[in-house]
Formats: sequence, structure tokens, C-alpha cells
Amino acid sequence: KLASREFHPEDTVIDIKGVKIGGDNLVIMGGPCAVESPEQIDEIARLVKNAGGQVLRGGAFKPRTGPYSFQGVGVEGLIMMAEAGKKHGLLTITEVMTPEYVDVCAEYADILQVGTRNMQNFDLLRKLGTINKPVLLKRGFSATYDEFLNAAEYILAGGNPNVMLCERGIRTFETYTRNTLDLSAIPVLQSLSHLPVISDPSHGTGRRELVEPMSKASVAAGANGLIIEMHTDPDNSMTGDGVQSLFPDQFANLLKDLEKLAPIV
Ligand code: PEP
Ligand code: MN
Repeated sequence: KLASREFHPEDTVIDIKGVKIGGDNLVIMGGPCAVESPEQIDEIARLVKNAGGQVLRGGAFKPRTGPYSFQGVGVEGLIMMAEAGKKHGLLTITEVMTPEYVDVCAEYADILQVGTRNMQNFDLLRKLGTINKPVLLKRGFSATYDEFLNAAEYILAGGNPNVMLCERGIRTFETYTRNTLDLSAIPVLQSLSHLPVISDPSHGTGRRELVEPMSKASVAAGANGLIIEMHTDPDNSMTGDGVQSLFPDQFANLLKDLEKLAPIV
């Protein structure tokens, strides 16, 4: 299989405009759950950059559990985020939910994200195999490692070699946390596959106070990067994810601490 270590013994290192993801590099992606306004994403981009992050995250299309929840600002959000990224010298990552929107998302963002709910949306994965932008594939919250790697295989088999795997927490019997961040996934996936492994301690815990320790634990476990939610006004964010979003000063302090564990490059 294309995703396997047997097929490709060396770590895959994805180079996006000079930012290297994979191997010994640690990449930090930060930003709001959802793009809300040009001012919001511009200010958060500035803070991500100042803290030392390399990638701005933000959803323009949001996969909400209920149909009456805020669904994202759509294509306008892609434009707002692209401008903020360019202005502050950050790469951008955004979620794409349907094959029809892959091309427009690829036009505006540097990395396309597949959410946990779409890990086995095979039409979407097949379409992502045909583009020349890297894809961050999130693990389905009930997916085994084998199912996860098979989902990545769909993208690779289509001809797109630039796939990163993202552990974002799985469903367990525990209700204190939103999900259970499966730290073992990091070394296991790295042993089975050559693809970079990114950890998402925000969705992985659903609790702001756990983001710092689980970020550090993820880096200690060998993660190639982190994707972290950060918001200037989490209590008034437009998705429910304010409770797991770091305040800007927490984000900056975390990155300072992480520099001591592994150089952020
Ligand atoms: C997100 O990144 O905001 C998101 C919806 O993530 P997940 O698909 O992991 O729930
Ligand atoms: Mn979110």
C-alpha cells in the first residue's frame, strides 16, 4: 500500500512554500474554529504569526452536528482567510466537505482538511487525490488505524502524495472530555506509515485547560505538528468550540514551552 512504511521507508516531508511538514520538523497550525469576519481572522493571524506558528487554521464550511447550528460563512470566509494568511506570512488550512467545493478551497487555501465526519466520504477522498494541494486527513472518531490508513490510501491512489494524518480524538465511554485523544495513534501510525502525523488536542479533549498538557504529550510522543484552536474572544465565538479554544496569551506561552521540547521549524 502507498501509505505503508514498506512501500516508502523514508518519512514523507511535505514542503509548502518552504515550510516543511514531516521528518524532524514540528509545525504549528493555529486559529479559530470558524472564520467569522475579516477583522477576526486578520487579528488572529497576527497573533499566530507573532507566537511563532506557521499555518493559520479556520473553517469556512463547518460540519455541524445539528442542521440549525451556524454552518460557516462559506466562500467569503476562504477569501478572508487567504488575505489574512498572505498579509501575515502564514500558510492556511481549511476544511472541505464536498467534492464540488474542492476546487474553490484549493484555489484559496494551502492545505485542505478533511474532518472526522468525512473520513470515509470516498467521493471526497477520490476528488482530493486529483489536486496538487496537500491534504490533512482527520481520523474518524470511531475509525481504527487500518480504516484511517485506508482512507489516506484513497487520496494517495488518486495521485496526490501529500497527505498528513491527524489524530483528533476518538469516542470512548468517557464523557468528561469531548473525545479521548489517542496518543498511541501517533507512534503507531508513524510505524505503519511514512506520512506526517499531526495531533489536534483541541477537538481531542474539548477542554481548554487540557490543550497545553496534551500538546506537550503529543510532541513527546513524536507528533510532527499540532493543530490548535485559538480565539480572541472564545466566549463569543460562533461555534461551540470556544470552550476548547486557547486565549492568545495561552497559545503564545504554549509555543514558547514547545520550543524547549522540539524546535519549531
Ligand atoms: C475543526 O477542525 O474545527 C473540526 C470540525 O474538526 P473535527 O472534524 O476533528 O471535528
Ligand atoms: Mn472546531
